Amino acid sequence: MTKRRSGRVVLAGAGPGDPSLVTVAALEALRAADVVVYDSLVSGELLREVREDAQQIFVGKRAGDHAMAQEAINALLIDRAQAGQFVVRLKGGDPYIFGRGAEEADALEAAGVRFEIIPGITAATVASLYAGIPLTDRRHSPTLTFITGHSANSGVSDQVNWSSLASLGGTLVVYMGVKTMPDIVARLMVEGMSGSTPAAVVENAGMSCQRTVAGVISDIADRAREESIRAPALLIIGSVVSLYPRLAWFERLPLFGKRIAVTRATARTENMTARLRALGAEVFEIPTIAIRPLDLDAGDRSRLERIGQYDFVVLTSPAAVEILVDRLRDLSLDVRSLAGVRIAAVGESTSACLAKYGLRADVVPDDFSADALGEYLGEEGINGLRFLLPRSGKARAGLVERLAELGAEVDEVKTYEPVPARTSCDRIQEVLALEPDFITFTSSSTVENFVRIIGDDAFEMHRSQMRAASIGPATSRTLKGLGLEPVVEAETHTVGGLIEAMERFVEAGHAEV
Ligand code: SAH
Repeated sequence: MTKRRSGRVVLAGAGPGDPSLVTVAALEALRAADVVVYDSLVSGELLREVREDAQQIFVGKRAGDHAMAQEAINALLIDRAQAGQFVVRLKGGDPYIFGRGAEEADALEAAGVRFEIIPGITAATVASLYAGIPLTDRRHSPTLTFITGHSANSGVSDQVNWSSLASLGGTLVVYMGVKTMPDIVARLMVEGMSGSTPAAVVENAGMSCQRTVAGVISDIADRAREESIRAPALLIIGSVVSLYPRLAWFERLPLFGKRIAVTRATARTENMTARLRALGAEVFEIPTIAIRPLDLDAGDRSRLERIGQYDFVVLTSPAAVEILVDRLRDLSLDVRSLAGVRIAAVGESTSACLAKYGLRADVVPDDFSADALGEYLGEEGINGLRFLLPRSGKARAGLVERLAELGAEVDEVKTYEPVPARTSCDRIQEVLALEPDFITFTSSSTVENFVRIIGDDAFEMHRSQMRAASIGPATSRTLKGLGLEPVVEAETHTVGGLIEAMERFVEAGHAEV
């Protein structure tokens, strides 16, 4: 008897803003989902984790209208699960805290649909830590209350006992209170709270565009209006606010508030995005290159089988390393076949990738040339040495020719080729419309593919506003050839060097758009 495949629903918290603040459990669910049903506060970056063949359904609020009524959302979740699908219902912050997650869980329970719930970091936690306003503190506040500032009618909610809150003396955190802020603070003062009680509003908490406005309850609503504070924002009231801005570490990060587009292939080995986010930047991934492994012919396979007989293996990118290891595995070999072979790795990231497999590069030039290698070999010289270059099918012939001129025996195995990534023209246009502070280019092919994806006309249109950050002279040459003068060029031609160059540029006060 075949058993009917039964679906299930995972109600997962996405955390607020910063996509790296999602839980591992929610991320795993997202990657496995057949359908993802999401709200407006969910980061677009997180949705990029969803499988290409999975469906994404937006049911959030836009401009005051629910894209879909709660009953319709409940019905959608039930339908899809009953049809056997694995549904992830992704909600901003924590699914229960002012998130109507419990109503959805109730509906699933009533329909007999299997469900699980994954917590998320709620907005108050992030606002507190990232703005530097601890919600509880022995010296200031023994209690913490979460309040909704939203009511069915305009004005403050009558379900909230404002008079007891006014006399409670701890920390109050108001969600959904931007519009009703003047009424909320007025009501608290009417109920006896002192007008000089410290208060702060944190907008877009945890994101590079986070803003904090601090004051006291008698002026906070005016200040928020003057600064045009918009949802999503939280109002925090209580003496803990006096600790701001001493603990406001996030807003002091070197790349805080900077929008940076990353065009390189989403590499498994080196996470440029994570490094930039850790420095406070808002990162937009628009990978222009994907790596496609190439089929090997009999000659290539036999060269790899005899890899141990070469004097040198030259690896020019992390992809070259990863694919070499894969290919050796296909041939039932492993890294032991490299015993006794010297390894040259181009760039730190290639050598870091080798290290993952327990391999140490003998020489790591930043910029690879036969002459640099000749210099390294000194008296030993290149003459008579046997080289294997498992590398990109699009790599330049110059290196092989020069090594041969110097008397080396060189074999090349084309193991992979870069192909344009599936990033769409629309996605790049969307990112360009945000006027990023930097668009990073880590190789000439990222530049060429970027232009190929958006097309010559669109490139022409955006070129004068684009602020390119280049990893080194070769990439800069390609940019200049297209009429785009980079604003930053890395001194050390690595991702780390590029990040440093942008930091220095910002520090020097250049990056105001
Ligand atoms: N379930 C969510 C809250 C949903 S209610 C959670 O746990 O965070 C929506 C409200 O949350 C917004 O009106 C705002 O008050 C708050 N909020 C959500 N994300 C926020 C952010 N990044 N910064 C500040 N407030 C945020």
